[in-house]
Parts: sequence; structure tokens; C-alpha cells
Amino acid sequence: MNRVPTHPAPAPGILDIAAYVPGGSTVPAGVEPHKLSSNESPVGASPAARAALENVGDALQIYPDGSARALREAIGEVHGLNPDNIVCGNGSDDLLSLTATTYLKSGDEAVHTEHGFLYYPIVIRAAGATPVVAREVELTAHVDNILAAVTGRTRIVFLANPNNPTGTWLPISEVRRLQAGLPRDVLLVLDAAYAEYVRKNDYEAGIELVSSCPNVVMTRTFSKIHGLAALRIGWLYAPTHVVDALNRVRGPFNVNAAAQLAAAAAVRDRDHVARSVLHNEEWIGKVTDALRNIGLEIPASAGNFVLIRFGDETMCSAADAMLTERGYVLRRVAAYGLADCLRMTIGTQQVNEAVIAALEEFMGWS
Ligand SMILES: *Cc1c(COP(=O)(O)O)cnc(C)c1O
Repeated sequence: MNRVPTHPAPAPGILDIAAYVPGGSTVPAGVEPHKLSSNESPVGASPAARAALENVGDALQIYPDGSARALREAIGEVHGLNPDNIVCGNGSDDLLSLTATTYLKSGDEAVHTEHGFLYYPIVIRAAGATPVVAREVELTAHVDNILAAVTGRTRIVFLANPNNPTGTWLPISEVRRLQAGLPRDVLLVLDAAYAEYVRKNDYEAGIELVSSCPNVVMTRTFSKIHGLAALRIGWLYAPTHVVDALNRVRGPFNVNAAAQLAAAAAVRDRDHVARSVLHNEEWIGKVTDALRNIGLEIPASAGNFVLIRFGDETMCSAADAMLTERGYVLRRVAAYGLADCLRMTIGTQQVNEAVIAALEEFMGWS
């Protein structure tokens, strides 16, 4: 018997998606909120980016430049890249989604790592494909496990380097080994959202790899180091054939005019970037040391956040409740398979010190 549908049904796979839950910001009434749940910049945006927005209101009736040419030229100038090999997006999330839509179809597989960024399985399923999880080792992506997860159906491998929410990273030698082990027709997407923060001699975001390999792309964002999360703006560097394919699918005006202007000013403000990196370098060290001193397990983080491992889900919930009560909103990461962990974004000096003091008290050290 044919069942008569009562309403339109989404495409296969869509209802298997668990919607992305953004970092919270709710605290008790009367308490000042400090949001440490979405890896936003405690330093804020460059004054030059703010100034660039001053006259945006004069031309709100005009569509933005659909190709974001001036912004791609600014990025190209600062990073030494050909602007023709850059695609801008409404946040790098937009570019991850665009890449999945362009390269995946029903029946395909795409690989991501065990505690990889949660937007990957969403974009994979939305494209009708199947996410395949590669186990990590010590909360770190593992090249042999990723290669072992690749089958004849694999079309994309997503790798966040450094990874969110673990903060762990792969040295460029391992990323190269990964690329070398992949079939030529599998696209390697290097999500380098935190690249600017990394102070490790063995790290590279992947620019050289993109330049020399036809199956590697790199995504970057203005949401983290540049403090422009509100505007939604990211970019992708890719071989010409990939740029050509993505530009056929991309929304014609996917990046708004305000974001284009602010981002071009932000990427050119190298002093502001340097100040933001310096603040993070100082505080990621201090927060990591202070929390390790009170018995918490903190994996070394190359990003602008730390993963705090309580080793026990009940204790983690209690710590989260205690911090929220005081206005400090961290991120539960149970959806990443890390139910005993909180992720803390590095904040201002005052906020970092307050969270450390509260956790010292919680752990019975003061
Ligand atoms: C924050 C983040 C992004 C998303 O950045 P937007 O440009 O704001 O969309 C992408 N990947 C990772 C790993 C992130 O942590």
C-alpha cells in the first residue's frame, strides 16, 4: 500500500544530522557574563577594521562585490598568494559546506577524526554522503588511522589543524605524509582556523602543500585571531581547478559588504594580529600551568583555548555550574565524545585569573 505523504520530506541523511549547538552565553540574572565558549578574541577587532565600517551605511542598497576582489587582493598581498586562488565565504563554515556540496554526492564517504570539529559530519550528511570517523591517539589526529579509514568511496578528508576542541596539532611532516598516502582523487581539506595562534616550529598551515598538490585546500577564518566573528567572514586557498568548481556553486553574493571592508583592513593590520598572538601566547601558558598545578589534565594547546579534563562527568558538570553561576561560560564538549571536559577560550587577564581562582577553590586548593 502506498503511504500518502502528509508533508515534504528532507533529502536522505538530513534528519540524521544533530544540529550544531553554538557556545552558550546565559548566566544568572544580575551576573556579568564572560563568554569563553566560542573561541572569540579577548583582544577584539583591529581599530582599522572598525574604522573601515564607518561609511558602510552610505551604500546599503548596493550589492557587494560578489567575487570579493579587494579582500582577496589584501589576503594575497599579506600571505604572498595569488588572489585568483582564493575564495571568500560567509565564515569558513560556508566554505566547508560549499566544498562538501561541490565534491560529495549520495553514496560517497568523507573522513574526519574522532574529536574533530563537529561541523564536518553536518556538511557531509547534508551533501548526502556518509561521515567516517578515524580514531585519534592521545586526543590527536593520527595519520595512519586516517589513511586506514579511506576506502574507494572516500572523496574528502577533513582535518582541523590545530583541532578544536582538543587544541592538539599535527606537524607539517605528518600532514605531508597524509597527503602522500591519499589517492590523487581524494580532496584533503586543511581547516587552519587557529593557524595564526600556533607557535610551534614544526607547524605550517598548509599554504605550500596547496601550492604544490592538486588535491589540497586550506580554509582560514577572520572569526578568531581577527576578532570579526560577528561579521561572518572566512577564506579558502585552493588549486585553480577547485576554485573554478567552487565558484560555480557559491552563492553569488555570499560575503556581505561590511565583512569585505572590515576583513581587508584587519588582514593588513599586522600589529594588531601580533598583539593578539602575544596575549594568547602569554595566557595559554599561564592558564595551562595553573590548571595543571591543581591536578587537572590539560593537553598542550596550539589554539586560543584549552581543553580541561576533569576525568569525571559529574565533576565536570559541577565545575561548569559553579563557573556559570559566577558568570564564566565555558563550553561543554560532550557532543565531541568528551563528556568529562570543558573547553575554555583564553580571555582577558582579569577573566583568566578569575576562572583559575574559581577552579582552584573548586578543586580544594584554596
Ligand atoms: C571556529 C572554527 C571554524 C569556523 O569559523 P567561521 O569562519 O566563524 O565559520 C572553523 N573550523 C574550526 C576548527 C573552528 O574552530
